[in-house]
Amino acid sequence: MTSLAPRWVFRCFRALERLGDRVTGAAGPFFIAFAIALLSVGLVCFFEIIQPTLSYPWITTPICTLIALNLVAHYFYVCTVPPGFVDEPQRAPGSGILWAKRKRRGGHRALTDGGLNNVGVRWSDEVNITRASTTKCRRCGAIRPERAHHCRICNRCVLKYDHHCPAGVNQCIGLHNERHFVMFLAYLAISTICFVVLGYQKMWQAVGYVDEAGWPHRTPDVLYMMIYILSVVLGLAVGIMFGWHLWCGVAAAETSVEAQDHEMYRKVAKERGETFVNSFDLGKRKNLELFFNIGPEGYPLYTLFFPLRIMPYTDGFRWARKKGYERHGSLREGEELTDEDDLE
Ligand SMILES: [Zn+2]
Ligand SMILES: [Zn+2]
Repeated sequence: MTSLAPRWVFRCFRALERLGDRVTGAAGPFFIAFAIALLSVGLVCFFEIIQPTLSYPWITTPICTLIALNLVAHYFYVCTVPPGFVDEPQRAPGSGILWAKRKRRGGHRALTDGGLNNVGVRWSDEVNITRASTTKCRRCGAIRPERAHHCRICNRCVLKYDHHCPAGVNQCIGLHNERHFVMFLAYLAISTICFVVLGYQKMWQAVGYVDEAGWPHRTPDVLYMMIYILSVVLGLAVGIMFGWHLWCGVAAAETSVEAQDHEMYRKVAKERGETFVNSFDLGKRKNLELFFNIGPEGYPLYTLFFPLRIMPYTDGFRWARKKGYERHGSLREGEELTDEDDLE
């Protein structure tokens, strides 16, 4: 790919990228503080101003509280659950109240090879799980399985690396926190849309268009207006982002990195008159089930509606594959793109 454009363009781009990494890396904690402040003000505005105006409080109060809990919890998890590093010991599920219990069903047995007893990887008749091939990272020397990539900001190899999220998360999105990331996007979209739909009358009141009895709330009307406008913008932006991430990424079994790589592979395959096949793609439904780990062998469906922690379906060293595939279709040995291109 490098040969297609002048080298200096890539050099410039990479230098800019590295500068960006350094700036966003340093600004990370400030973004988090800012995000927490906005979330808190938003929640106060909702529960002080909008919540009391809702009818059927016996049902709307618990629903709104649950949405708020999910929003805060998934944000907390996406920032605090490490994404999963290649060189860290095997993780086991926790046992606390925040951990969901896995479905108990027959028909599958725990994977026992390599001493990795029952740590989230299961064999099943339905899903074909294969050991990932490995490569050595030239930056940190880690032996890493397929789908792991080196993060230049964390300076470590991350399992199922998606992207490094500086804005408000300040860590990588990978195997162990990608579900929380998507859930956070979903609940942020739901919350902001609820805020906009349920709070528009109060917005008229804050603007002074409807002059009932002035502004009877402790939260200043200016703050309410700001949060309302922000909710309009975020509801739209995050809604689109969530939809795109879910449908084009999760349902297609591609991480952000893979989406770019596969684009390239498709082009190469097309030139050869072949079709590229993503061997991780088991069909939209199965891909979503595996991502949220709610398949027949995973966790119950309610884990989507409560702020609970669960284990991913794999330990990051094995992957579910399309039946009959050991690697991607039409991709020859040695053609895989690596993040070593960065080293120049
Ligand atoms: Zn590395
Ligand atoms: Zn990172």
